Amino acid sequence: MNVEIISIGTELLLGEIVDTNSAYIARKLRDIGVNIFYLTTVGDNLERIAAAIRASLARADVVITTGGLGPTVDDMTRQAVAQATGRELEFHPELLDQIAERFRQLGAQMSENNRVQAYIPAGSIPIHNRLGTAPCFIVESEIGTVISLPGVPREMKDILDASVIPYLRERMGGLGIIKALVLRTAGIGESQIDARISDLMTWTNPTVGLAAHTGQTDIRITARADTEAEADRMIAEAEAIIRERVGEYIYGTGTEQLEDVFRALLRERGWKLAASYTGPEGEVFAARLGSGDGITCETCDDDLAALLARLGMDPAEASDPASLDYCYLSRSEAKRLAAETGADVVIAIVTFDAGTGITALTAHEERSRCYAFGGANSEAPYWAGTWGMSMAWRLSRQAAGEGLQ
Ligand code: ATP
Ligand code: MG
Repeated sequence: MNVEIISIGTELLLGEIVDTNSAYIARKLRDIGVNIFYLTTVGDNLERIAAAIRASLARADVVITTGGLGPTVDDMTRQAVAQATGRELEFHPELLDQIAERFRQLGAQMSENNRVQAYIPAGSIPIHNRLGTAPCFIVESEIGTVISLPGVPREMKDILDASVIPYLRERMGGLGIIKALVLRTAGIGESQIDARISDLMTWTNPTVGLAAHTGQTDIRITARADTEAEADRMIAEAEAIIRERVGEYIYGTGTEQLEDVFRALLRERGWKLAASYTGPEGEVFAARLGSGDGITCETCDDDLAALLARLGMDPAEASDPASLDYCYLSRSEAKRLAAETGADVVIAIVTFDAGTGITALTAHEERSRCYAFGGANSEAPYWAGTWGMSMAWRLSRQAAGEGLQ
């Protein structure tokens, strides 16, 4: 089934509010295996809304609109849907009663213009809006189905979850089970994953999609099937192919966190980890890494001069951060830590505006990543930390003989 979303409101076009409704609806539809090929935003203009609905219906089976269901003159969705689907607006006394009841509950005065909300396209199915006054509706017309939801996010979400998703699932008939599996990767960029599995990303069932977070990427497999066993089988097949191609970067599934998986591996081997982080917000990294169980963040602060002194360099060089080689600094710090602490695994991160060096080290091997940017970005402690941990995690697995590259 193909669905399109139309968000309605001039304030969206002016950039005064951000269209979070479309994103929410799109995610929910993805989860039930619906295809979306277009999102449209249109202002509060009758002709343009009607034209947008017609254009979407020419491509899709179902169009979901949000916004413009209020009682004021600039709320034109009811009329536009009627016009686009060739229907009259029809007065529903029971909807007016519901609106009046809602106002009574709120202890507010219903105004005369709320009457217009009781007019919906002829033959449409009203949907109950328990959190607001605007009645919503589904029009099943000859040229396709239009579902109109309010603009207020809280109301829209409630109706989508309670009424629209069940309606769409029912309409899709069969293939009623939707299951998803998220494979979590770190230590590989989104574009590199994409390059390795792009052929799978054109599948329609199961679907395979990517979501990048700071320094890590999730691969999501979603399958629709008649039975749970069948959905599980489809997911397992897709998972096997993905693991074959990027398996060494997959540290977990679902909501598993890299730091937990890494700590569990260290604990299992009885290995000691020593880390050092030099850059703004070092405490973010230290907190994420945790301590105890042989894990220590030896120094996690932003004192660049102290780092240079520890490495036997001239601390005065800290006054010209752009002149420093961050790769060299993180490597030297990693080696120093390994020698001084005797730790089995070492992570050293140096990240400032001018550059980032990340080094992971075990007794067998050393890996570094270096960038000409860094700590100015407030997410730096997180992504640099994720890269450092993912490199250390992979080296640790390798050293533990799990046969990785
Ligand atoms: P109301 O009965 O409150 O008038 P409505 O269906 O007419 O509801 P709008 O007037 O279009 O909805 O929007 C009401 C409010 O909901 C807007 O002021 C805005 O804050 C929010 N809103 C509307 N559309 C969106 C959207 N696409 N994304 C996020 N928020 C939205
Ligand atoms: Mg409104």
